[in-house]
Amino acid sequence: MLYATEFSEISQSVNNNDNLKSRVLELIKDEPIPGKVTEGEVRLENLKDILTRYFNGTIGIPQAITDVECRLPRHGSPYKNNNRVFPQGWSERLVRTSISRFYNQAVLTEIVESGGAECFIGHSSSESAGSNCSQLLAGSRQSASDMLDRLTNAYRDGNWSKEVKIPSHPHCTHTVQPV
Ligand SMILES: [Zn+2]
Repeated sequence: MLYATEFSEISQSVNNNDNLKSRVLELIKDEPIPGKVTEGEVRLENLKDILTRYFNGTIGIPQAITDVECRLPRHGSPYKNNNRVFPQGWSERLVRTSISRFYNQAVLTEIVESGGAECFIGHSSSESAGSNCSQLLAGSRQSASDMLDRLTNAYRDGNWSKEVKIPSHPHCTHTVQPV
């Protein structure tokens, strides 16, 4: 399986697909990850290192979450007293959002660069039926460049909009696939 049909298959697909893996690892190295949680000395570098280890298959999600709590500790952040920056489960939210963002960004970039117009977004076995992405995107083909723009606007450039995108929330389990 070269492409994940849902979040739980991301690790396996990347480790079966060398081109995609290189693309993911390059994006992690080169691209910003905006957000208050990663502000402050070495926090961003540490997150990138943890994500790299995850996509290399060295660690799984539980270890990545533990590593985030250890290497980007709340008490080391300039926003440590802000519960909106550090809500319940912030470390898991950060890990899952970052994995989904970099994986889907890599697939969409590959589709667009190879001249593809559309991507397919499948239903996920663990989607929440009421979420925007389940209702508006899952089970449909979408413009790959629109999906890439929405993703990068939010997760690379930090411009949040209400446009529905992948990932649409920290526990979004949808993935994009080439058509
Ligand atoms: Zn979703």
